[in-house]
Amino acid sequence: MAEEAYTKFLPEAIPAWQMPFWESLRRREVAVQRCSACGTFRYIPKERCPSCHSGECEWTPMTGRGEIYTYTVVRRAPTPAYQAEAPYVLVHVTMDEGFRMSANLRGVAPEDVRIGTRVKLVYEDATPEWTLFGFEPDTGG
Ligand code: ZN
Repeated sequence: MAEEAYTKFLPEAIPAWQMPFWESLRRREVAVQRCSACGTFRYIPKERCPSCHSGECEWTPMTGRGEIYTYTVVRRAPTPAYQAEAPYVLVHVTMDEGFRMSANLRGVAPEDVRIGTRVKLVYEDATPEWTLFGFEPDTGG
């Protein structure tokens, strides 16, 4: 079977020091930077801790769970590949670790989305090289 070309956005020009995040997605154990000095999580990746300016960190596995902080319904998408899925929902999620991540919400009709709903991160193998992520309702599984 011929492989269908992936026509949505992929990460570009990611510096090597940020690759552990993307590699953790491929392993299905999402990990983010955690400051070795003060414990603050850093997402999106940063070279220095925004709290104490330490350059030291460990890539720390996280729960992948949180709740919807806010959302938007996309009706006019940026490219035809995305428009094929419109309308779709982008959520801004407060993770249980305290920082926020944004991605598509799967499996919920736009009119049914509610702020505060528990969600979990899900992995999306976009290409053999890149695994992306989205969210879906957290039913405890
Ligand atoms: Zn720190």
